[in-house]
Amino acid sequence: MAYIKVNQSKVDQKIADKLQDLCPFGAFDYEDAYLSINAACKVCKICVTKGPNGVCEFIEDDRPRIDKSKYKGIAVYIEHHDNKAHPVSWELIGKAQELAKTTKEEIQAILVGSNVEHIAKEALTYGVDRVFVYDKPLYHDFNVETYTHAVEHAFKTFKSNIILMGGTPLGRSFAPRVAARLKTGLTADCTMLDIKPDGDLLQIRPAFGGNIMAKIHTPNHRPQLATIRYKMFDKPEKTEPNGKIIHVDTADISTQTNLELIEILRQPKVDDISDAEVIIAVGRAFKKKEDLALIEPLRKQLNAEVACTRPLIENGWFDPRKQIGLSGRTVKPKLIINLGISGAVQFIEGMKDSECIISINSDDDNKLFELSHYAIKGDIYDILPHLNDRLESILKGAS
Ligand SMILES: Cc1cc2nc3c(=O)[nH]c(=O)nc-3n(C[C@H](O)[C@H](O)[C@H](O)COP(=O)(O)OP(=O)(O)OC[C@H]3O[C@@H](n4cnc5c(N)ncnc54)[C@H](O)[C@@H]3O)c2cc1C
Repeated sequence: MAYIKVNQSKVDQKIADKLQDLCPFGAFDYEDAYLSINAACKVCKICVTKGPNGVCEFIEDDRPRIDKSKYKGIAVYIEHHDNKAHPVSWELIGKAQELAKTTKEEIQAILVGSNVEHIAKEALTYGVDRVFVYDKPLYHDFNVETYTHAVEHAFKTFKSNIILMGGTPLGRSFAPRVAARLKTGLTADCTMLDIKPDGDLLQIRPAFGGNIMAKIHTPNHRPQLATIRYKMFDKPEKTEPNGKIIHVDTADISTQTNLELIEILRQPKVDDISDAEVIIAVGRAFKKKEDLALIEPLRKQLNAEVACTRPLIENGWFDPRKQIGLSGRTVKPKLIINLGISGAVQFIEGMKDSECIISINSDDDNKLFELSHYAIKGDIYDILPHLNDRLESILKGAS
């Protein structure tokens, strides 16, 4: 990509002022005697042609361009645990199918493991055209090094245009390794994906603490690699399998690793809020941990999972896996009830696609009210007992 270079030795306050006045996009920043060009620059060259002599220079990028026509297919890395695929993989296949409507590419799956034929067959039922299976005892347990060798082989052999991975704890540690090996970029934790007709993927994710949505583009590297959080996209409907399973010969793939698996320690299981159908989300309006008892009748009546905002994790009131939001989990329940939550963008990003949103807050200027299907203004300490009573009598009446 071409860009504008500033010759700092020729810059002073007067020159900086001139350039700032000249630029129609406000792309010059002058701070601490340094003139920099910000992201608003459109490389229109007005600063080069009409600006002070020799201060701005147009630099043509003459790096070789890749031949994009050599890379075809949208591949999904199939993550699995205990011989079961993680559902994020199926969600990504659904999204890949949507993207492929624009580019007419095939949908591929990369599956590494031991005795994983049943997962390959399941992938076909979600409409995958080809599943590349790397199956041998060495791959029984996830090892970031041996698995990277396998995915590197898959890319070099099948030349996928795009590889999508789940933004799960495993995906977050694995994808950067794959990106480094394949000398490509990685956009982590995308919340949206789009594609141009030439196959360039638009990887969209919140940046700067959720204050902007960054659109990231990888115009000159392949594969285009992105991780996407669980529950961002819908799982596709199953169809009659039409695709093929390709059993890859793994004999020549490196087995080199510096890691030795000594023991697998399992974290105590907590119900995953990402899978919950009904969630009661609690925020900083709760003054003390004991006050959470107020939600108990409602939780029982609705058979709900309880989740929270980040400050409550920081207080040590909840397991971190119960946090909704950018640095927590994404949820998409049928019903979410937000109690005393202000609706910071980092929280909203994690729950905005919930089917029905009810929020209770004493301040009607909070951001969640705009997003909610039902907004109740008031003090949670007054409203919750009424809500509990009302719900109980409705449910009694119904039984
Ligand atoms: C990089 C980064 C990542 C982050 N990631 C996350 C994330 O993943 N998830 C997350 O939640 N936060 C995250 N945060 C923090 C986020 O910015 C907010 O600080 C947080 O979400 C606020 O939590 P809250 O709504 O519970 O508290 P507050 O913002 O303090 O809101 C409390 C709300 O309760 C209302 N209220 C008070 N008393 C009552 C009452 N008695 N009855 C009714 N309403 C009442 C108030 O009007 C207010 O709206 C992140 C921040 C950063 C910088």
